[in-house]
Amino acid sequence: MSPRGWAVLTLVVLGLTVVLAALVLIPWQRPPAPRADQLAALRDLPTEQVERAREFRAALRPGGWAALGIGLLVALALGLTPLGSRLVELAGRPFGGHWTAQAILGGLAVVLVADLLTLPFAAWRHSVLTRYGLATNGWGGWAVDLLKSYAVSAVIGAVALLGFYTVIRLAPRWWWAFGAAGAATLVVLLSFVLPVLVEPVFNRISPMEPGPLRTELMELADRDGVPVRDVLVADASRRTNAVNAYVSGIGPTRRVVVYDTLLREATPAEVKAVVAHELGHARDRDVPIFTLTGALGAAAAVVALYLIGSWPPLLRMAGVDSVAQPRAFPLLLALVTVAGLVFTPMQALMSRRLEARADAHALALTGDPAAFEAMQRRISSVNLGDPDPPRWEYLYSATHPSTVERIAAARAYTREAGR
Ligand SMILES: [Zn+2]
Repeated sequence: MSPRGWAVLTLVVLGLTVVLAALVLIPWQRPPAPRADQLAALRDLPTEQVERAREFRAALRPGGWAALGIGLLVALALGLTPLGSRLVELAGRPFGGHWTAQAILGGLAVVLVADLLTLPFAAWRHSVLTRYGLATNGWGGWAVDLLKSYAVSAVIGAVALLGFYTVIRLAPRWWWAFGAAGAATLVVLLSFVLPVLVEPVFNRISPMEPGPLRTELMELADRDGVPVRDVLVADASRRTNAVNAYVSGIGPTRRVVVYDTLLREATPAEVKAVVAHELGHARDRDVPIFTLTGALGAAAAVVALYLIGSWPPLLRMAGVDSVAQPRAFPLLLALVTVAGLVFTPMQALMSRRLEARADAHALALTGDPAAFEAMQRRISSVNLGDPDPPRWEYLYSATHPSTVERIAAARAYTREAGR
């Protein structure tokens, strides 16, 4: 069989494995609460709060969708015309057109063009956040964060680009196989090092101060059978008033982090509800599950890029002879951008199911649905989240169940526990 035949076979096997992994690992059997219960929860929220949140979300929406649209147009313009391949050549020219210069500088230049063209929308977003009192960092802090995120992306991007084009040179016929393995490894590695190498770039993260709340949270983790070395606090208040918490990392780098804003705004019972939700993620291994499906997806993407990218009409449009050249990187980026937009709703759906399971875990662990509901109300009020967002937006990109879904789930728990 030819390398192409093997690639088709590999793609089919990887595709089936991703589907199977998603079917087995994602808790599909937990549908959202009935719509009538959600609407009842919505009616119980203060009207001014709901209106203000909707006004805020409406103010963000045009810029958000415009950035998405412009990002797509730029990616297509660079990838499906010779413009992108010329940009890669130009970036490599000061170094005699050496392939490493084209691969790294050319690749980063293409990404930077797309970033710069969507920059006005990012600035607009920050101005809206500031106007509504959510952003606390001012334009200086915003710019520093932006430069830091460019720097982090540039380092990761440079490693990935150099690795990818080195593999292509070493194995011109079978690069897609090594590339797929490399992409999967990179996803796992990133998930592992993220808390240790990337999070500290943006936030100071320190162990929670000793006190009654910390003791209670450690007891909660202990009761849950989730070994946690410490509850960590991020100094998020330096850029936002929004409250949040998360788990990240896998194996020895796994950690539960709460925003300092959460400790400032919420009652101890509400903080317990949040931490119990995060412990649910840790106990059910949601980060490894997302990492594994992400790694399989990345491997499948490399094989798919090899197959789609060798379609002659596409190569002609991009003005390149082969998808294996650094000059064809803009074409690959265009395909990845389209795939990202297509797969966003699927990822969001999977994320919502994992989040709903973590909510159920929090309710069962704390046995305190009142605190859980109070926490949902507070998060929605402080973060100006639309408690019941437009259906199309929810289906396209919501990574969490809506506030009214979560409140309805807490009330269902109360009813079931009362029986
Ligand atoms: Zn969560």
